[in-house]
Amino acid sequence: MKRRDFFKKALMGLSALTIAPTVLAEACKAGTAPAGKRVAKNKERLDYVVNAADAKGHKKFKPEENPNCLNCKFYEPNKKGKDDSKTPGYGRCAMMANKYVSQCGWCKSWRKV
Ligand code: SF4
Repeated sequence: MKRRDFFKKALMGLSALTIAPTVLAEACKAGTAPAGKRVAKNKERLDYVVNAADAKGHKKFKPEENPNCLNCKFYEPNKKGKDDSKTPGYGRCAMMANKYVSQCGWCKSWRKV
């Protein structure tokens, strides 16, 4: 690899790290918490936050992976084919005792789909 290419790639990586939290915060359009459902609250368990951008600084939060509930393997937006149109932006999470979590949320148990 040429020296110029090395510095170019290093700069691109650095700018991606700087931009990632901003993109994460702006891309997330959480729905309204579904009424009458068991909804997880901030910091209730596993350091869960409703908005992944609020997890910035947590030792397990890696913004470069764009982690959030929507791309977590424990997120279940539509259980057994049921219509979840009444809970837009929210889905159930097995790690949160099947409570509803925001698709924009995050907790330290996040695992990429
Ligand atoms: S386990 Fe995944 S879906 Fe559940 S709260 Fe944590 S990040 Fe969200």
